[in-house]
Amino acid sequence: MNRKSIWQSNGITFGYPKCCIDSFCTTFGFMNADENQRTVAQNGFGFIPCPTHAKQILNKEITIESLIKNRDPEINDFPNDEFRKR
Ligand SMILES: [Zn+2]
Repeated sequence: MNRKSIWQSNGITFGYPKCCIDSFCTTFGFMNADENQRTVAQNGFGFIPCPTHAKQILNKEITIESLIKNRDPEINDFPNDEFRKR
């Protein structure tokens, strides 16, 4: 698997929206993220939303948690992107 398909599959496991996963692949994560994305990422959750969602989060129109859907039940609740301890 190349890096992009690993990111896509991890993003789905973590329950991130497709637009945000695609954006992450385009910006190479933090590397080419815009100012809003960087600000959200620096809150320490490890999740870098797409530019549109980052702006909505900073404007308090939505919460970062509301973006997380259909997360793999084997993963801890957001923002802890690790497998649950058994
Ligand atoms: Zn998004």
